[in-house]
Amino acid sequence: MRGSKGWGGSRVTWYPELGTRTMVAAGEHVRAVGWLAAGQPYTRGAASPEFVAALRQFVAGWRVSGNCLGLPLAAGPHACEFCGQFLAAGNFGVPSGEVLYVAPEMVLHYVQVHEYLPPSEFISAVLGSPVPGTPEYAAAAAPFAEIRRKQFEQRLSQGS
Ligand SMILES: [Zn+2]
Repeated sequence: MRGSKGWGGSRVTWYPELGTRTMVAAGEHVRAVGWLAAGQPYTRGAASPEFVAALRQFVAGWRVSGNCLGLPLAAGPHACEFCGQFLAAGNFGVPSGEVLYVAPEMVLHYVQVHEYLPPSEFISAVLGSPVPGTPEYAAAAAPFAEIRRKQFEQRLSQGS
């Protein structure tokens, strides 16, 4: 079990930006975004108001997003490792063609308070994707939920 329990609940586990693993999804189609942790450098910069507004809709819709994608719920809320002033528990996905960007709910806080600037391809995906709660989002998410189902079946058949 990675991560540890601390003063603010469970901690976010760090994953490299645009890597194919996150706490809640993994695979060739996955791109990790915003899995920041104290002691790990990250890109800083000014995010556009348009991006922040769009990102806010994904963060607000993380439960719907997770349902559409079959993402597991996190073990519990974790506190921001940089300021300790913000709690979040959710994760969401942004479908973009063959790729699914997977980010923690905390990513909006990182952008707004800690000057985090996500990779430009993620910004484009957020601006270009339908938002959770729309039929278009559900349709875009469905192929990734299917990949997840197959991964699960594969694990079952391998007995692990
Ligand atoms: Zn913070």
